[in-house]
Amino acid sequence: MYLNNIVEAIGNTPLVKLNKVTEGVKATVLAKVEYFNPGNSVKDRMALRMIEDAEKAGIIKPGGTIIEGTSGNTGMGLALAAIAKGYKCIFTMSDKQSPEKINILKAVGAEVVVCPTNVAPEHPDSYYSVAKRLNQEITNSFYPNQYDNLSNTAAHYDTSGPEIWQQTDGKITCFAAGVGTGGTICGISKYLKEQNADLKVVGIDTYGSVFKKYKETGVFDENEIYPYATEGIGEDILPKNVDFSLIDTFIKVTDKDGALMTRRLAKEEGLFVGWSCGSAVYGALEYAKEHLTEQDTLVVVLPDHGTRYLGKIYNDDWMRAQGYLD
Ligand code: PMP
Repeated sequence: MYLNNIVEAIGNTPLVKLNKVTEGVKATVLAKVEYFNPGNSVKDRMALRMIEDAEKAGIIKPGGTIIEGTSGNTGMGLALAAIAKGYKCIFTMSDKQSPEKINILKAVGAEVVVCPTNVAPEHPDSYYSVAKRLNQEITNSFYPNQYDNLSNTAAHYDTSGPEIWQQTDGKITCFAAGVGTGGTICGISKYLKEQNADLKVVGIDTYGSVFKKYKETGVFDENEIYPYATEGIGEDILPKNVDFSLIDTFIKVTDKDGALMTRRLAKEEGLFVGWSCGSAVYGALEYAKEHLTEQDTLVVVLPDHGTRYLGKIYNDDWMRAQGYLD
C-alpha cells in the first residue's frame, strides 16, 4: 500500500476535540487540523486544484513556470504539486513574513522574490504587482492568482466541506475559519449550508483588514486598512473567493489575542499550530460564548503548523518585545 507521489497524501485531515481552551463554552468545539497535509497547511488542497484545473483548461503546459504571490503556505502547496507534475515555481512574498517561510520554499526548489509590505496593492513593487509582471515577462508561465481563482473555493467545496460533514455525522451547527483569500471558508460554507441551511458561519478577520466593515456596511473603507502582524488572514482587497453571502458574521481578533491563544493550543491541547489558528480559535470561542449551547457542535479550521512561527509566537523574547507577554 503506497501513494504514487506526495500530493496523493493531501486531504482527509483529522478533526480533534478541544478540551482545555474552551472554558466557559457550552458547545462541543472540534478543530480541523490542516497541518496534517504534506505541506503542513490547508493550502495544499487548493494549490493542487488550481494546477489541475489549469492543466485541464490548457493554461499550463509541460515545463512551464508557476508564479504566485504567496505568504508561504500556498507556495508550499504549489511547490509540492510542481515537483509531482514537473513545473518550476517563482513566488513573490511580502517582507513581513517569517524567514522560515522563505527558506522552506527554497528547500522545495522554488525561487522567492521578497517585496515590501507597506505599499498599496496597486504599487508596482507590491507582491501582487511583481507576480503579475513576472507572469507577463516569462513565457509559458501560469499565474494561479489564489485571490480570484475560484478553483480555490472549489477545492474546499469538494474536499474539506464533505470531510467535516462526515466527520461530525452531520451534527455540525456552526463553522468558523479565518478569512484571507476566502477559499477555505466559502468552499466549506457552501457545502455545509447546502446540507443544513440553518448552519451559522463565522469569519475571523484582523484589525487592519476590510472584511468585517464591508460585510456590515457594504462600504470598502480604506480607513480600516493599516499594518498588522497576524499572517494569512485579513486583507486590504476584496478577493473574488470571498462570497459575503456565505459568511453570516465576522469577528475581528487582535494580533495579541491570536498569538496568546496559539501558544495555549500548543501547551494545553498539544496542537503546535500557526498564528492564524490561535486567531480562529479565539474568535470562534468568543462567538460560542455568546451564541451557542450544549446542543451545538462548532468546527474551526486550524490552517497551518507551528514550525513556521518558531522565531515569533514560540519565541518568548519576541513575544515580550511585541508587548504580548509581561
Ligand atoms: N491562515 C494561514 C496561515 C494562511 O496561510 C491562510 C491563507 N491566506 C489563511 C489562514 C486563510 O485561508 P484562505 O486564504 O482560504 O481564506
